[in-house]
Amino acid sequence: LSPPLQAKMSKPVQARRLEGIDKNIWVEFVKLAATYSKANLGQGFPDFPAPDFLQEALKRALGGGNHMLHQYTRAFGHPPLVKALAQLFEKLLGRELDPMTNVMVTVGAYQALFCCFQAFVDEGDEVIIIEPFFDCYEPMVKMAGGTPVFVPLRPKAPKDGKLMSSADWQLDPAELASKFSERTKAIVLNSPNNPLGKVFSRGELELIAELCVNHDVLCISDEVYEWLVYDGKEHIRIASLPGMWDRTVIIGSAGKTFSATGWKVGWTVGPDRLLQHLRTVHQNSVYHCATIAQDAVAQGFQRELTLYGKPESYFVQLPRTLQQKRDLLIQSLVAAGMKPIVPEGTFFLVADISEFKSDVPEVPNSDEPYDYRFTKWMMKNKGLAAIPLSAFYSEAHKNNYTNFIRFCFAKEEATLKAANDILQKWKKEKTS
Ligand code: PMP
Repeated sequence: LSPPLQAKMSKPVQARRLEGIDKNIWVEFVKLAATYSKANLGQGFPDFPAPDFLQEALKRALGGGNHMLHQYTRAFGHPPLVKALAQLFEKLLGRELDPMTNVMVTVGAYQALFCCFQAFVDEGDEVIIIEPFFDCYEPMVKMAGGTPVFVPLRPKAPKDGKLMSSADWQLDPAELASKFSERTKAIVLNSPNNPLGKVFSRGELELIAELCVNHDVLCISDEVYEWLVYDGKEHIRIASLPGMWDRTVIIGSAGKTFSATGWKVGWTVGPDRLLQHLRTVHQNSVYHCATIAQDAVAQGFQRELTLYGKPESYFVQLPRTLQQKRDLLIQSLVAAGMKPIVPEGTFFLVADISEFKSDVPEVPNSDEPYDYRFTKWMMKNKGLAAIPLSAFYSEAHKNNYTNFIRFCFAKEEATLKAANDILQKWKKEKTS
């Protein structure tokens, strides 16, 4: 008889680079929201349709007679899309761009981020991340062998009687400067910021830019919410500040720009000396993004280029609609006693749950941060889905921010009304 075949490998299966990064908040919370929520204000996606012009563009790409749109296109971006992006960013940055070398299309902004960390970060390099941050930055830096170095936005108390604003969360300049060293390779900037909705001011960007230039550090600038700014605020691109073009990669997403997160079309814009390395990662991993979605997004940008700055432009209309939705949610939360931090941008809003703590008591010595338990309880018992804020903090700082949850307000009026009904009923139950 031959010896039994060994069923299990005795070698370690998991690559070392995956150690400690197996958990993902979205996998868990998206499932819970799907099971329990009556009003899902959790994950960041619009539940209203993508604009008609974009849907029409996709139909044209699909059946418009060019059957080659079902085949591969250029690896680093479908030519009509990189051309349209170059034309738009020439306007936004006031500099000439080569569509073939200054733009690269990616599978959503997510892959753009992944390309940046893989292309620039070596073992032992440090990457500065501003807290709270879009959660994937940390594992992506670690997977590349780098060390994330965190610096928090620190909340200042608002003026008496005023709601807190995302602008009240600020970097301490000395603290930020203290994080830059010989080992620093890059800083990740996300303005407008997910989850707070903070839109970094010119002064804050100048401070970051000066540190980047003085310490010869790259800036990975995640600007996926670039069009979603409110109350007349201006989104300033750090790449347009002195000395920054040569060291910045701008990251964008058609998911946020055109309310079509499922299409997963993203891009990077930057100098060839940086983008050439993103192309190396891209050609050795994803290689190519779906042609048909790129073609439809290209048509979307061509439309926006002809309407640029006009009232019919989606880049004008979308923030106007979203600001109304933001204000609706703020009203609901204020009426219910869950204090909102008014966001200057994005489609997210963070709210203070301190007044609701009596409903979901603390469990001493629990491993799970309080806001995680609160959010899960709220989904299961009230049918309202949100995301705990501490998910956007590093392990070391999580426990300082467990009294807040994040809502997404890119939702139909009916969804926001359902959320309002839940909140007001809850408030009534508390007071009766
Ligand atoms: N960056 C930020 C700040 C985000 O919020 C998101 C999506 N939630 C992404 C990147 C990823 O974008 P995409 O869906 O285009 O991959």
